[in-house]
Amino acid sequence: MTLATPTGAARIPPDATLAAVLDMVRACRACEAELPLGPRPVLCAGVTARILVVGQAPGLRVHTTGVPWDDPSGERLRRWMGVEPETFYDAARIAIIPMGYCYPGRGNGGDVAPRRECASLWLPHLLARLPGVELTLLVGQYAQRHFLAGRRKPTLSATVRAWREYEPEFLPLPHPSPRNQPWIQRNPWFERQVVPALRARIRALTRGCGGPRSPNPPAPEVP
Ligand code: SF4
Repeated sequence: MTLATPTGAARIPPDATLAAVLDMVRACRACEAELPLGPRPVLCAGVTARILVVGQAPGLRVHTTGVPWDDPSGERLRRWMGVEPETFYDAARIAIIPMGYCYPGRGNGGDVAPRRECASLWLPHLLARLPGVELTLLVGQYAQRHFLAGRRKPTLSATVRAWREYEPEFLPLPHPSPRNQPWIQRNPWFERQVVPALRARIRALTRGCGGPRSPNPPAPEVP
């Protein structure tokens, strides 16, 4: 059976539910030959989610545990968002769909780029079944390139700095990896301006669902 249609998307019945599509994704073997550790798609989503987190691709630890953002990057992302794991992993509130769903392997400069097949085969079908998403966090350059396309600025720093241009639908973020600590230190405006705005949006969008129990001190005023 051919998995892809001529447009590149997977063949899926229009009435397939989100759960059914997620099952199909989790059984995907489309680029098995290119994956050093084999397929293990890591993503989660519920139809009522109002927030979507789009990252890059699972690292080795996440590939091993099968839990998205189960690493120091995830700890920092949750701190930025002002949520505890209980909220972050509640698929009814927050959908987590990276650009690449399986661990892509390592190159000289760290993990290689997410596989492109996921976005072309599956992403349109998943997004079509997430009608309640009001805010999509674009974590890192790959998500920003895909979702912002021509609206992206020449650099990631410039794109993140222009975050207000993409409201209310998108919020571009740097990758929270510890490897990005130098970027965080060089750009203090990010934690001073963007993080408080991010927390406020997350608080509003999770209100009424139990809400996040933030471990963080109150956010400072946005200048
Ligand atoms: S990386 Fe994406 S396209 Fe490749 S096997 Fe995993 S889910 Fe399928």
